[in-house]
Amino acid sequence: MKRLLAILAFLLLAFSASADRVKVRLFSNNSIDLINISFDLGTYDIYGSDTTLIEASVGNDKSVELTPQGRKVHVAINGYDYGSFANVNFLATDTACILCLNPRQLKQRTYEGNLSVSVNKNGKLLLINDVEFETYIAGVVQSEIYGTQPDIFRVQAIISRTWALKNINKHASEGYNFCDQVHCQAYLNRCVRPDIMLGTMMSSGMTIVDSVGQLIETPFHANSGGQTANSEDVWRAAVPYLRSVPDTFSYNMRQSEWVKVLSEDKWLNYFSSKHKLDIHNDSIRNELLSFSQSTRKVRICGVPLTRVRTDFQLRSTFFSVIYDTSSHRITLSGHGFGHGVGLSQEGTIRMVGLGISYDSIIHHYYTGAEIHYDETHPHTYVENYINKIAQIIEEDKSAATRSVSKKDDWLGRLFRLRDREEREEVYDPKTDELDEDWQYDW
Ligand SMILES: [Zn+2]
Repeated sequence: MKRLLAILAFLLLAFSASADRVKVRLFSNNSIDLINISFDLGTYDIYGSDTTLIEASVGNDKSVELTPQGRKVHVAINGYDYGSFANVNFLATDTACILCLNPRQLKQRTYEGNLSVSVNKNGKLLLINDVEFETYIAGVVQSEIYGTQPDIFRVQAIISRTWALKNINKHASEGYNFCDQVHCQAYLNRCVRPDIMLGTMMSSGMTIVDSVGQLIETPFHANSGGQTANSEDVWRAAVPYLRSVPDTFSYNMRQSEWVKVLSEDKWLNYFSSKHKLDIHNDSIRNELLSFSQSTRKVRICGVPLTRVRTDFQLRSTFFSVIYDTSSHRITLSGHGFGHGVGLSQEGTIRMVGLGISYDSIIHHYYTGAEIHYDETHPHTYVENYINKIAQIIEEDKSAATRSVSKKDDWLGRLFRLRDREEREEVYDPKTDELDEDWQYDW
């Protein structure tokens, strides 16, 4: 019995450890037939076909070139031929190990964790990053939103974490959890910014749930233009927490306004040929030439605005038509960028700037949803984050243009946060508001 319990305990531990990691396909949109891999930090053990040790403790004095050879991966290290294997695995020997990936003709990206390389059915390299879940989330946040205040990143981390947990099996049939593109969530590099790591860390254990405690879908867009959209007006289903709300916070931001100029003929002919509207009918013609939205509408002359948006590649469906009778030109004058459902990222940036708390922001955009805080959430990666931040700041001190005093200040604060008791005293993740001087501006 004791032995059985021990085995059960071991299995539970093994399960919880693996649930903290995810597998993400890298360069999902690219065909890769040659990649050079080097090592920025720490060392890696390289295995072929799962169990053959190709080379141990490979560090920054070596680089590995991989190419497909039939259905196998050919390995060369520092120019020496090491043969071909069904797969090649790079296993990090420490928690802080960084890989530099240089596929031919693509920009370098760096990632943490392990890497597995095989050949897909098209004869191209398939790269899968096995990485700590929260490290993935920080990389997603860095890829998905801009800004300078940790609370912006805290909001993005909560919605990205919620999405990831809800969609953890999105690519399960292909042998990984997520791709690195917007089909899942953009994950275009490891997170290198302390302010983003801090925002992610401060939200650790937080997700968004509906009224019965289920994880919600968390769609977001760049800018709502002043009003978000109902889910059923963009997609099919009416979702209770995806309701249209007024959103003046999205005004006067980078993506608040857009215009597109077209000829009158092009505009009218589109509705005539594609949607069979009688453009010689005065009332139809009038509506097409003077269509206006002070609040969001769903259709123009019965045609879904989502169709018009796709066909004309418009930034949003939230536009009005201005007709110039002398030039016979149409100006589409639009608000916002994106589908408009759920959270507006630029609205979030503005709200954080106004001092509105991260939970109020989430409640504003996801009607009736609640933030769930898992107090049992392991704090190991919080520790990891702080160490990583410390390390990055240390490395950054060598850059002459940086302010050392600012970084020391950050470092001091972060180390104080590392003390668990002091963290709970200084910072309660459910209620704490950030001081202004947490802003990271270098
Ligand atoms: Zn995907």
